[in-house]
Amino acid sequence: MPGVNVLGITYENVTLDEALHDVLAFTQADGTAYVVTPNPEISEACVADKRLAHAVAEADYVVPDGIGIIMAAKICGTPLKERVGGFDLATALLPELERRGLRLFLLGAKPGVAEQAAQNLRGRFPALRITGVHDGYFQEDDEAVAAVNAAGADVVFVALGFPRQEYFMHDNREALQAHVLLGLGGGLDVFAGIAKRAPAFFIRMNLEWFYRLLCQPWRFVRMLKLPKYLFRAIGTRVFKKNAV
Ligand code: UDP
Repeated sequence: MPGVNVLGITYENVTLDEALHDVLAFTQADGTAYVVTPNPEISEACVADKRLAHAVAEADYVVPDGIGIIMAAKICGTPLKERVGGFDLATALLPELERRGLRLFLLGAKPGVAEQAAQNLRGRFPALRITGVHDGYFQEDDEAVAAVNAAGADVVFVALGFPRQEYFMHDNREALQAHVLLGLGGGLDVFAGIAKRAPAFFIRMNLEWFYRLLCQPWRFVRMLKLPKYLFRAIGTRVFKKNAV
């Protein structure tokens, strides 16, 4: 299926189930695929940060992690099926990894957090094979690459926040032996129970961003990227109309 370009980034036009299916297919394929999950903030950052834009463009699989991307796609006249969040994709993957006996590595967050996340996930998925963890504050990428390879991981959750996780996946895909690298932002903090996901009501109403703002008001400045992003979408729409 062809991707859909929304303000410079080409996304897979898939449902969460379809994305899960595709990512599982990568676990059976040769080589290392990496998955990025841009939200409006990452998309805006790509305008100024060419290294980030390149890392996103080179990814094997790109899904829209945010209602803002879905809105912009609609405004631009190129709608996407649905939001496919990195955290939702990771959550959907867990029982499948357990069932298939695939090995998972948790990379990222502050020291101790990945261990706690592993412990919590083992509680929920007793047969899940988490073969290694490493915090996200390493000085040299080689250190993390060596840990992942030594653990014989099939899938790595790369939770370094952006843009570090996108740089890491892009720069190290050749050196890493895992089949799938999935960018996860602050997802390990949630699996560890340090950060909370929004209640289901907020997620259902597409108000997860609002819940995050209530809990972490200092994110306000970061969130100003969302209206900026939507204005860019409106500008694109107006320009397109005038060009016809
Ligand atoms: N992080 C990391 N290494 C770094 C910088 C950040 O592992 O060098 C982690 C940080 O501890 C946190 C996550 O990356 O767990 C970023 O969380 P945030 O909620 O800001 O992520 P995002 O908004 O990008 O999803």
